[in-house]
Amino acid sequence: MNSKDSKNVGSGNTPPPRGRGRGRGLGLFPGSFDPFTLGHADIVKRALGLFDEVVIAVGYNERKAGWMSVEERVSKIRKLYEGEPRVKVESYTGLTVDFAKEHDITAIIRGVRTTADFEFEMQLADVNRQLTGIETILLPASPQFASLSSSIVRELAHFGHDISSFLP
Ligand code: ADP
Repeated sequence: MNSKDSKNVGSGNTPPPRGRGRGRGLGLFPGSFDPFTLGHADIVKRALGLFDEVVIAVGYNERKAGWMSVEERVSKIRKLYEGEPRVKVESYTGLTVDFAKEHDITAIIRGVRTTADFEFEMQLADVNRQLTGIETILLPASPQFASLSSSIVRELAHFGHDISSFLP
């Protein structure tokens, strides 16, 4: 992992909620964020245009072996958003919908890069809605980040490549 100082992506340049009125509640952006990439930061920025606040929730994912510890991911992401009071960063275990219910979340936010992402996210969104009634908002990846994944970044780091251009 590159130890270069992280850029602060939360200071001053995030959009207010768009459209008529305010009070659009709390968006939950759950994921592994191992590591948190420019693609994730782009989703957070766009979600801030839809919600008053966004909670980035770093989950323990049993299907994915961790590269950084969850604590390390949380502290790095918190540092990125130090200047943005509308972004909170938490960790959680268990089901995303249980976390969502406990925190009175308005909707879950997920990013979609490919048709494979889409199929997976559709199933997840459907199950989550059936369990709790909580809706999922799928944001299409911005073209410049559509090929970017945490796993590719980890792979590049593993072989000694500089990954700083993929990270906020
Ligand atoms: P998970 O293990 O839950 O898939 P990830 O950290 O891999 O966690 O991804 C979290 C969310 O961010 C997912 O909805 C994923 O599709 C989305 N995402 C990941 N990379 C990008 C990207 N480059 N652009 C847009 N969305 C992305």
